Amino acid sequence: MKVYISATLQNFIGKNHVIEAPEGDLWSVLKFLTEEYPDAKQVLFDEDNNLRKFVRIYAGNEDRTTTDMWYKTLSGEEEVLILPAIAGGANDSIINDVRMKAQSLDDDEIKRFEKHLLLKEISVKGQKRIKAARVIVCGAGALGSPVIQYLAAAGVGTIKVVDENEVALEDLQTQVIHGSRDVRRPKVASAKDTVRNINRNIGFEAENAALNAENIEQIFDGYDLVIDCSDNYKLRYLINDACALLDIPVVFAAIYQYEGRVSIFNHNGGPCLRCLYPEPPEPGLVPTCAAGGAISPLPGIIGSIQANEALKLIIGIGEHLDGKMLIMDSLYLHTRILPVKKDSNCPLCGLSKTILSVEEFDYDDFCGLKEPDEETPVEGLTPEELTKRMDSGEPLTIIDVREPHERAIMRFPNAIIIPIGQLARRMKELDPEVDTVFICKSGKRSILAINTLREAGYEGNMYNLKGGFDAMKDIVLSHEGAWL
Ligand SMILES: [Zn+2]
Repeated sequence: MKVYISATLQNFIGKNHVIEAPEGDLWSVLKFLTEEYPDAKQVLFDEDNNLRKFVRIYAGNEDRTTTDMWYKTLSGEEEVLILPAIAGGANDSIINDVRMKAQSLDDDEIKRFEKHLLLKEISVKGQKRIKAARVIVCGAGALGSPVIQYLAAAGVGTIKVVDENEVALEDLQTQVIHGSRDVRRPKVASAKDTVRNINRNIGFEAENAALNAENIEQIFDGYDLVIDCSDNYKLRYLINDACALLDIPVVFAAIYQYEGRVSIFNHNGGPCLRCLYPEPPEPGLVPTCAAGGAISPLPGIIGSIQANEALKLIIGIGEHLDGKMLIMDSLYLHTRILPVKKDSNCPLCGLSKTILSVEEFDYDDFCGLKEPDEETPVEGLTPEELTKRMDSGEPLTIIDVREPHERAIMRFPNAIIIPIGQLARRMKELDPEVDTVFICKSGKRSILAINTLREAGYEGNMYNLKGGFDAMKDIVLSHEGAWL
């Protein structure tokens, strides 16, 4: 069976990244390892033969360190991972000593950052590293709100925020860097005002632009760290790839409803997003945070962990989430940290790389965002066209594929409710002689619904409501009486 050795231990285990051990239980695997590599014994065990406290042992994805499962026979598939804590220290900082020493703190700064200076792990040197740091935050939304504010408050010398959107009313529930008066302002402008109010002395660069394959390297170039606070798969892969190619670590986080995840990619030879998820899910299959909702404090909690990881990387202290992913369920207060393995077949950071430039990679195709093939276009109706057809009274079937909680906000008049998962099975309920219109929240899952039925062999005319229910909400409200 396979035993994975974390980078910090490899020097003691013949520089091996993975060891093949005879099948057995955890105890026999460790015994084999320490007999084969006596140096490893001293690192992993104390004089009394107890596992040292800074070592974690995983089998499969489970941390078995302090469980009573050491003598349980492992199945061949349960790979063992030995993961010692990474010791902190200035050597681990992403800001080198030359840049740290070039900084000085004035009296105001010594007062302002007093609580950092009191921490022996940070102190003056750490604060100077923070001041020297140049950090990019991708997205001034829900996760960006705590990240930008805490990094500014902590004294990060240069913060660049990239976001092309304007503040909308529905953003305010989670995006606490913006206020009611900021609605319809560019998010970067609103974020800049908040940051100026926190700390006037740091450099703030507002990049009111959409990141794309053409501009990302130029926007990221010269920065020490990227914080991924974006909200879609295309951007996440683009950020991951650009950072791997430019050798910049990424602090990644994602939220959905009550759950948040944080990890660090491209750091110290650790894994990247592609090692973890070689491909994004099909569009519409997994709702985004925007479509699925999120409880207000969740981005605050998860973004704060992101900011904390960023500062630890800058100062060079503590244990990092590289090679690990923290998963927090805020509904049941369940938190776990799972190992993330580097994939030697990763096209970006593996042994034989095939992605050498972001400009040559087709992100739309990779993320399934290309318009469907010409032979099977999905016909769309605008809200106005659908309104006209509904008003005319001609036969028309309307299928609402939204989730129950989305329908609870407002139902669509005269619609039949069929979740996407049941469509193929319930195809008989549709009359192929009658035109059918599919409705979801934003007009993407409804395309998936039409393609699902096509694949199942349905031959009637199908239309997608362009922009989804969101685009038609106002018309539905004003017509309600007439259509019910
Ligand atoms: Zn990778």
